[in-house]
Amino acid sequence: QPPMKRDGGGGGIGNSCGQNSGNGGHKSYNSTNRHASSGGGGSGGGNVNNVDEELPEELRGLDKELIEKINNEIVDTGEQVTFDDIAGLKHAKQTVNELVIMPMIRPDLFTGLRACPKGLLLFGPPGTGKTLIGKAIAHESRATFFSISSSSLTSKWIGEGEKLVRTLFAVASYRAPSVVFIDEVDSMLTQRKADENEASRRIKTEFLVQLDGAGNGRKGQVLVIGATNRPQELDDAARRRFVKKLYIPLPDQDGREALIANLLKKNDHTLTDAQLAQLAKDSEGFSGADLKILCTEAAMGPLRKFGAKAVEMNSKDVPPISYKNFRQALRQVNPSVAQSDLASHIEWNNTYGSMV
Ligand code: ADP
Repeated sequence: QPPMKRDGGGGGIGNSCGQNSGNGGHKSYNSTNRHASSGGGGSGGGNVNNVDEELPEELRGLDKELIEKINNEIVDTGEQVTFDDIAGLKHAKQTVNELVIMPMIRPDLFTGLRACPKGLLLFGPPGTGKTLIGKAIAHESRATFFSISSSSLTSKWIGEGEKLVRTLFAVASYRAPSVVFIDEVDSMLTQRKADENEASRRIKTEFLVQLDGAGNGRKGQVLVIGATNRPQELDDAARRRFVKKLYIPLPDQDGREALIANLLKKNDHTLTDAQLAQLAKDSEGFSGADLKILCTEAAMGPLRKFGAKAVEMNSKDVPPISYKNFRQALRQVNPSVAQSDLASHIEWNNTYGSMV
């Protein structure tokens, strides 16, 4: 995955409110002053740099340019994901629904002991749907989705990391309900190492401070979701902040079958249910991302035999994807997750994971 998700960001600040539609109006500061949605302004698109404009009270004192960068580059306006788009993971979906989505939609019902946790950790091998779940939570709870990877905090936002974290949380609170999704959260909240530099230490401290303060702001819920393939690297302080820790495992056989069927929806194919079930069986150990590679490889099969002539073909003449194409693909594509990795996830889950 690219560290920064820029998809759909071309509309600048105005578009970034898409996910909030139907949620009582826009809250991007720009959209409150009638400059929003001028359309296609591009990144930083002209409509956001009006220095004369006052920031709303909640954001005053913060760096205006940084706020704009956050609205343009970190607010994710890409394709919206629903729970139906996520195959398998029934347990995770159920838990997340009860634990965070319902409380975010109806904070008035979920108070006190029932209140939404501030921090949710999704851990498990790569390519199992952690990011998809983050997106689906934002969509289903009609929240603004902020998405950033830890590594970009220290690379892309170099020198601004600490300030960015502070500003990010302020904007998230202003645009609440919000979901702040931090990919590779382990690399930001890692146990202290001898070579840890001052900048990373400060980012980490700021993040923990903000995480403590997040939650039920005046404007509503801010949920922080951390995703990691290496939960063992989180230090105690960070681990404690993520009250709920949810294991996102590799798909089981039913999950794999659903995933393959989902992926095949957009193409013609001749696979029977029995063949689908057989493929699901033979792809044990594959992650969702691996299965996508497998299906892509299989989908190339019908074109490959035409070689260079494929570019001249009429689309109607392309043969459907066959079981044989999949058998061939299975010889090319291997699972990406090592058994030893799985074992360490299961162990960590047994020690720290939230079962409900
Ligand atoms: P990660 O767990 O590393 O965050 P992602 O959520 O980014 O993984 O998933 C990577 C890709 O793999 C997705 O874009 C999707 O195509 C596919 N994928 C993984 N798990 C699932 C799933 N449970 N349902 C549907 N697609 C999945």
